[in-house]
Amino acid sequence: MYKILLSLWFLILVVFIIFGISSAQINNTPNSPGSTISDTSGQISSSTVHTEIDKKERLEKAIRYQKAKNTHYFLDQGYTLILLVLFLFVGISAYLRRQIEKFTRKRFWVVAFYTFLFLILAFIFGFPSSYYGFSLEQKFGLSNQNFSQWFGEQLKGLLVVAIIGLLSVEGIYLALKKSPRRWWIYVSVVFIIFTVVLVNLAPVLIMPLFNKFTPLPKGELRDKLIALSQKANVPVEDIFTVDMSKQTKEANAMFTGLGNTKRVVLGDNLVKEYTPDEIEVVIAHEMGHNLLHHIWKMIIFSAIMSAIGFLIIHLLGGGIINKYRNKLKIENMADVASLPLFLLIFSIYGIITMPVMPTYSRHAEKQADKFALDITHNKEAFISAMNKLAYDNLSDPNPSPVIEFLLYDHPPIAKRIEFAEEYKF
Ligand SMILES: [Zn+2]
Repeated sequence: MYKILLSLWFLILVVFIIFGISSAQINNTPNSPGSTISDTSGQISSSTVHTEIDKKERLEKAIRYQKAKNTHYFLDQGYTLILLVLFLFVGISAYLRRQIEKFTRKRFWVVAFYTFLFLILAFIFGFPSSYYGFSLEQKFGLSNQNFSQWFGEQLKGLLVVAIIGLLSVEGIYLALKKSPRRWWIYVSVVFIIFTVVLVNLAPVLIMPLFNKFTPLPKGELRDKLIALSQKANVPVEDIFTVDMSKQTKEANAMFTGLGNTKRVVLGDNLVKEYTPDEIEVVIAHEMGHNLLHHIWKMIIFSAIMSAIGFLIIHLLGGGIINKYRNKLKIENMADVASLPLFLLIFSIYGIITMPVMPTYSRHAEKQADKFALDITHNKEAFISAMNKLAYDNLSDPNPSPVIEFLLYDHPPIAKRIEFAEEYKF
């Protein structure tokens, strides 16, 4: 549901937290390590036409794919930490700031140029890892993009990250300068406002940079969904389709936006290949996210998590700089060359608290599943939709409990199907 994409640096992390909570999806997101699939055991009725052998092969492939993806995720985390440590302790960060100061001494511009250069370096050093992620999707036949299309989107993404990153870093270092003791409180408050604004704007301003959104045309499907809204006694939702097939063969749907931009979005693969009953269940699940205020809850949740992170940086940052002053050549936390330290502490905090957000998210997903079953009364469609999502998205139905605990933002599909099978109306 919550697309907390693997991120190289905190800036990218910030952007992705914002993107993450801006959408609540039916399935684990393609870029998050967790994913879901049905176990295709005999008792499950599925409307798919795949043969048993087909399904078995697909399942084995899914397990291989998820294993490779999870390994990549953990290696990438380690790689990020190593890069940040090197950047800081070899003195590259301070060197960069000194070079910029040869051109300008104005604090605003030093911070801006530093952030810009830092992002470019992060992009370059992070490239092998991002490329590996893309090549995995290609290797397993999930991607619909060639290299240049993919790379074009990476550059576009960098531009978005640069704009949001510049604003964030300028804000953080202004607060650090003006109020060394209370900066983390101000930053936490502004962060919430910033998040709310971006979650509101994401579906109309940021997402359309990458995909085309079209209102679901009038017709049988739309009528069915309006009837569903009325049955559930909820306002008719704005329903859009998105050309996800531009990037991927995967099927997905999401609930996104906030306030006046709230909407259900269906991937075109889903609209094309799923039955109206299956789509109805998927939309009911997304409506559940809306009615249960999951996006707001997630914003509050992530705001608390971030505020604690900022407080930890406040408590530890100064001490670390004092201890390693000779190596780091950084004056204090208000010096923009401390950015890698800022990110390092935040990343370690993120690793320690890794299971927190997914655990909450799995809970929210289960509530949305329950809602979908309650209003559609259609267990069969729910189960066959889950089976198809699993098949299409190469998900592992039964990941190890540790992997589920750390990474899965949705319950594994085997559990979702079991929940539906045992559900009493
Ligand atoms: Zn969901």
